[in-house]
Amino acid sequence: MSYDETPPPARRLPGRKPLTVAAAALVIGSLGGWLLYQGTSGPDGSGSSGADTSAGASSRAAAPSGSPTDSKPGSGSGSDSDDNAPGGEDPADLPLAGRVVVIDPGHNPRNSQHTTEINAPVHIGTTSKECDTTGTSTNSGYAEAAFTLDVSHRLRTLLEKQGAKVTFTHDDDRPFGPCVDERAAIGNKAGADAALSIHADGAAAGNRGFHVILPAKVKGEGADTSEIVGPSRDLGERIVSDFARATGSERSNYIGGGTGLDVREDLGGLNLSTVPKVFIECGNMRDAQDAALVTSADWRQKAAQGLADGIGSYLKSLKRSGT
Ligand code: ZN
Repeated sequence: MSYDETPPPARRLPGRKPLTVAAAALVIGSLGGWLLYQGTSGPDGSGSSGADTSAGASSRAAAPSGSPTDSKPGSGSGSDSDDNAPGGEDPADLPLAGRVVVIDPGHNPRNSQHTTEINAPVHIGTTSKECDTTGTSTNSGYAEAAFTLDVSHRLRTLLEKQGAKVTFTHDDDRPFGPCVDERAAIGNKAGADAALSIHADGAAAGNRGFHVILPAKVKGEGADTSEIVGPSRDLGERIVSDFARATGSERSNYIGGGTGLDVREDLGGLNLSTVPKVFIECGNMRDAQDAALVTSADWRQKAAQGLADGIGSYLKSLKRSGT
């Protein structure tokens, strides 16, 4: 690790914005019950601590079982409101209508109780690697797996409001995993227009900021990323730009030389993907300043907004295939 840069303190956006966003979301909310679900519980076990103004988020009280977890834009939790588009618009007119996004919440809150299973090797195209890992946590014990699910829920809400079909690789609905090869397979099977794996890092204190990980060009048994390297970079660059703007966070000071981008060939979730896919490490949970960000529901909402903006920008740049 090098410490060749001293990042300036993170800039914070004005604190009232998330409140406004939250209020607007609720007003728009013919999403109704869905948003109500969103506002009621927190996956981190801390009861979405009262200090934070959440625009919803967190786990749904009645998450459908089985995975991957699909939900249709504008629909309630398995209910009947397909015709209830936000704002009364025709869902087909929404900017991301017809687009499929796969969100991969990194790790699983229960992985630590299933070490044998998650340590079992799976093939990642070039070599073998453990099925999954437990992930990191802040020094005070806020788990990466709770963080990734929370941001994923917020992101899903934002993307569905724009008409995207969102599939999760898991939604806290299995005892461990899925394994990294299955995480990739779910994105492939869904025919995702874009896939994003959400993480936070566990580096030494003083390492700060976020970075997006792009797939390297990899060809191996069951892996060929040649078709996705280009579009994944486009997706990743858009996410870096929008995530920085929405959160005020700095690009990583320890990976990527200030670009906020890294390229890796050792991640099964990327090697085995046949659809444009990137990872994001939203911050370093082991750094006190970054930990203060990731434990803030306000900041997580900004993070989700940045991700939604970056993904949305990428999806809108794609040519319509005439469907
Ligand atoms: Zn992770």
